[in-house]
Amino acid sequence: MALIVQKFGGTSLATPEHIKRVALRVVEERKKGNELVVIVSAMGATTDELIELSRKISQNPPARELDMLIATGEQISSALLSMAIHAKGEKAVSLTGPQVGILTDSFHTKARILKVNSKRILNELRKGNIVIVAGFQGTDYESNITTLGRGGSDTTAVAIAAALKADICEIFTDVDGVFTTDPRIVPEAKKLPSITYDEMLELASAGAKVLQSRSVEFAAKYNVKIHVRSSFHGKEGTIVMKEIESMESVLVRGVALEKNQAKISIDGVPDYPGVAAEIFEPLSKENINVDLIVQGAPDREGKSEITFTVDREETEKVIKIMAKVKEKLGAGKVGCDKGVAKVSIVGVGMRTHPGVAARMFKALSREKINIELISTSEILISCLVREEEGEKAVQALHKEFELEKMQ
Ligand code: ASP
Ligand code: MG
Repeated sequence: MALIVQKFGGTSLATPEHIKRVALRVVEERKKGNELVVIVSAMGATTDELIELSRKISQNPPARELDMLIATGEQISSALLSMAIHAKGEKAVSLTGPQVGILTDSFHTKARILKVNSKRILNELRKGNIVIVAGFQGTDYESNITTLGRGGSDTTAVAIAAALKADICEIFTDVDGVFTTDPRIVPEAKKLPSITYDEMLELASAGAKVLQSRSVEFAAKYNVKIHVRSSFHGKEGTIVMKEIESMESVLVRGVALEKNQAKISIDGVPDYPGVAAEIFEPLSKENINVDLIVQGAPDREGKSEITFTVDREETEKVIKIMAKVKEKLGAGKVGCDKGVAKVSIVGVGMRTHPGVAARMFKALSREKINIELISTSEILISCLVREEEGEKAVQALHKEFELEKMQ
């Protein structure tokens, strides 16, 4: 008998028919004799609709109240799925995040899980129940309802799988698995049989949003094996797992494109220790994610230019903050370019195979794509390009590294 955590995303639960189909799938697994904990997202676009609804009341609602509102989506789908399972003659119980003891910090709308108390779930399993858990939500020390950021049900699923030491965490979604790149951009893209946690994290930060990044961080920390698979058929998907040696033989496992980026620059920055902190601390205080960062060499007066990228939707906020930073540092102009995208290649094989970056740059130059910024890690190379050229860049790189031959 295995203990399996399954997570179903919003598209898999979009209508009552969908929910009944999911119930069937859960019941089939149960009949094999396995213990099941099922995490659900809200039905279809419910979360978006709830956010829309809040906007009709206020452009800027308190984050606590927004959480109170958007957490209701998952409560609905969990109750309905439990009912659907009952209708098929199996025992199930639905529980909210607070009920299962998911303790988070108090950063409303992007809270982090601090602890999962598995007692209640284990009790329910012992009673023979299939346990349905509302994903995406938890409670802070003061019993306020919190949510885990968009796509947060993935993290609920992995956190619960870790707490219960489940055999596997299956993430059911509307795609067949993790692909070498977005098949809408490259029709020859291949489904990957497996991918390492690190690669998956880099792909997510590079714009491939199959799983919420925090869920993968969690999985890596507690060594939870994730199976990303389709909820519409029974075929195997992609296993996200700890690296094993043979995985290094693949140079590049995926190409990702992140659109909606903005490039911010601030010039005339004086050169003394602590300057970078003066620039980036106020951004991190506002929870703004800074991605690529490049600091130019100082000019004759010892001043340099610092350039970085952020999500485009944060641009206005960032510019406001930078205006203050500029005053404080006595720096020059703050510039902003909203027309950029980031293309990245990812693969653990890069660690042991030199020359990957050169091949990437050459492939882009062959297509006359100008590279504006470059950043690398051990297993990732990212280039900032004009947004209009992003897809062409992905196609060129997919071809260069022969990802259509992946198996
Ligand atoms: N329903 C939430 C969202 O749409 C959480 C999730 O789907 O994982 O972001
Ligand atoms: Mg979702």
